[in-house]
Amino acid sequence: MKITIIGTGYVGLVTGACLAEIGNDVFCLDVDQRKIDILNSGGVPIHEPGLQEIIARTRAHGRITFSTDVKASVEHGEVQFIAVGTPPDEDGSADLQYVLEAARNIGRYMNGFKVIVDKSTVPVGTAERVGAAVAAELQARGMAGSASQQFSVVSNPEFLKEGAAVEDFMRPDRIVLGSDDDEMGRLAREKMKRLYAPFNRNHERMLYMDVRSAEFTKYAANAMLATRISFMNEMSNLADRVGADIEAVRRGIGSDPRIGYHFLYAGVGYGGSCFPKDVQALVRTAGENGQRLRILEAVEDVNHEQKEVIVRKIEHTLGHDLAGRTFAIWGLAFKPNTDDMREAPSRRVIAALLSRGATVRAYDPVSLDEARRVFALDLADAPDALARLSFATTQEETLAGADALVILTEWKEFKSPDFLHMKSVLKAPVIFDGRNLYEPETMAELGIDYYAIGRPHVQIDTTNHTAAHERA
Ligand code: NAD
Repeated sequence: MKITIIGTGYVGLVTGACLAEIGNDVFCLDVDQRKIDILNSGGVPIHEPGLQEIIARTRAHGRITFSTDVKASVEHGEVQFIAVGTPPDEDGSADLQYVLEAARNIGRYMNGFKVIVDKSTVPVGTAERVGAAVAAELQARGMAGSASQQFSVVSNPEFLKEGAAVEDFMRPDRIVLGSDDDEMGRLAREKMKRLYAPFNRNHERMLYMDVRSAEFTKYAANAMLATRISFMNEMSNLADRVGADIEAVRRGIGSDPRIGYHFLYAGVGYGGSCFPKDVQALVRTAGENGQRLRILEAVEDVNHEQKEVIVRKIEHTLGHDLAGRTFAIWGLAFKPNTDDMREAPSRRVIAALLSRGATVRAYDPVSLDEARRVFALDLADAPDALARLSFATTQEETLAGADALVILTEWKEFKSPDFLHMKSVLKAPVIFDGRNLYEPETMAELGIDYYAIGRPHVQIDTTNHTAAHERA
């Protein structure tokens, strides 16, 4: 099938590559010439496991094209996926300017029946606005109502996870499709059913519904996941106070099949391009419809505060004035296996340490370039702080002479480091672990002063080398 993808970011590029991989003829459009140039010269502008190989393969077979040519992109695909960004507007609602611009472009150049797919995460009612934008352009061309200019807008929200996006796209838990129950809508639904047929071989994964419910489903899913994270983070702070271990509690409740183990890890708060903006946008949608979403307001508040919990632990241990202190940071991306730093907790934690006078040496396996870019922007008004931030190219390099190690992303390579070497190069053997990677008892036995989230701090007894429990 001939497919156009509008917006070649995390979602668009993965969607385009995976649809080309199964045999479709895919045209990827972006307005960002730099991205298109990288792709056309054989590179991939984002880090996503498995993506580079698929793009190389499908390019070699001529099944994927990257371009900034809007007219050619509209003429190419019978199915037009809109996968552009929907960042938060100033009031927290989703900014639809890129979605509506993509819709207008389709209306400007369309030359036959088009299925227009809202793949971006968009508020309930957006498909109608997309349809109206296309119709207005057709009207301006004097072509409204002509048989060759018919279209239908469907909602097909994306549930892939950055870091496992290719795997998620190829083996989805479900494919949600919202379509209208009219002639064009049914035609669009049939085309989408055919497009996704290869993903349904093993069992039916399509969930058909009306457009508004499909749009809502995406927000409700992200809101639920964000709620679980904030719930566990709030429980972890109470665990700290009452002397419980949040990891034991997690296993204790996760074993209940009604609860399950997923998304119950306490940490430094959620970040990324989706949860923060989608929770905000849903709260905003509710407000516009005369309702308050009090649970989600609390989810946001808890998450905002959670990003500073580790800073408070550092202050509690080392004092408020951190001038002269050096911190080694492991992990900058908002989660492992991605270079995405949108709303990454590391941005808040590092800014807080720098504002208290500290020097920071940071490492991340894939997001160093992106980190240099975002911190230069975040700290544009604080050149003195920016000058105290440097980046290392290995995790070991960060440690020499540092007062403490702070872990902010749970990359695999951080899970079992050489602790004895670490002790020998750190100025003091202290770890603040925002991802609960290690066991407090083991750390104490190794003589490492270990502070985690919602877990006991086991005091190192330096006189007889036994560990005595003591709350931080
Ligand atoms: P992104 O910022 O990585 O990519 C968006 C791309 O669209 C950019 O490359 C931008 O240049 C391009 N663009 C903007 N306007 C355009 C236009 N008029 N024509 C062509 N290209 C245009 O965004 P993303 O992370 O891929 O997210 C896209 C959408 O998918 C958002 O609504 C997001 O909420 C949703 N989503 C994201 C994820 C995720 O994990 N990133 C997961 C599910 C859903």
